[in-house]
Amino acid sequence: MRLENKVALITGASSGIGREAALLFAREGACVIVADVDDKGGQETAEMIQRQKGRTAYVRADVSQAADCERMVALAEEQFGKLNVLFNNAGIMHAQDDDAISTEEKVWDITMNINAKGVFFGCKYGIPALRRAGGGSIVNTASFVAFLGAATPQIAYTASKGAVLALTRELAVVHARENIRLNALCPGPLRTELLMKFLDTEQKRHRRLVHIPIGRFGEAVEIAQAALFLASDESSFVTGTEFLVDGGIAAAYVTPE
Ligand code: NAD
Repeated sequence: MRLENKVALITGASSGIGREAALLFAREGACVIVADVDDKGGQETAEMIQRQKGRTAYVRADVSQAADCERMVALAEEQFGKLNVLFNNAGIMHAQDDDAISTEEKVWDITMNINAKGVFFGCKYGIPALRRAGGGSIVNTASFVAFLGAATPQIAYTASKGAVLALTRELAVVHARENIRLNALCPGPLRTELLMKFLDTEQKRHRRLVHIPIGRFGEAVEIAQAALFLASDESSFVTGTEFLVDGGIAAAYVTPE
């Protein structure tokens, strides 16, 4: 198994990518701490792991709150003795996130607090725990929108994901000699609730689809599989990267018919 004897904490694990990663990491032998603000979904994820005979615990943690992030890391060490893998995956796309002119300050603040500050808090409390474990891997979820401008604007979201790339790169360099690796995982458009709620008409979905060379939205499990590689020792020489899993979007100028 690819994560045997590892303890992994995943934020935003009540649904989408986080849930798929929680199930996959557990199948690969990890003890998984499921962290989220959605208690119902989080408990469901934990039950799904238990049904597949995995070891798990759910913790309510709002990643925009320092005390919650400190607590989720402490829980991992208390319950399972250590922390080896941290997947800072929680994120939001605010329905009123638009261009610079129309986006309200409060939408900017909420988005930055969860998507960017949440990753900072995860690293702030997670890195000392990885150190205590003798090293480990941090995977931070960014997005392809941190590389490419989209004509359907989400200015706060895009800026927050750019921040994730920059902080991941710097921390990867800072902690490289401590056997702590950090990588940014950059999904393309996925068929998850988060994006489908934002692209809420057939026309908007089509507008996004025409840019994807593979010709379809990605599935959450396809991102979880990439996260597994970055979390496991198979990626032992990989740090500070921006790992695009995007159906070819960032490579394309014109997509095939
Ligand atoms: P999702 O909405 O299914 O899952 C996000 C999870 O984060 C939810 O369970 C939600 O309750 C949780 N969450 C929200 N705010 C939180 C907070 N303050 N503290 C803790 N948990 C919180 O979405 P997803 O598609 O699985 O997205 C996961 C990550 O992938 C996000 O960072 C998202 O920005 C990123 N991403 C998604 C796509 C896409 O197309 N879906 C593309 C690129 C990047």
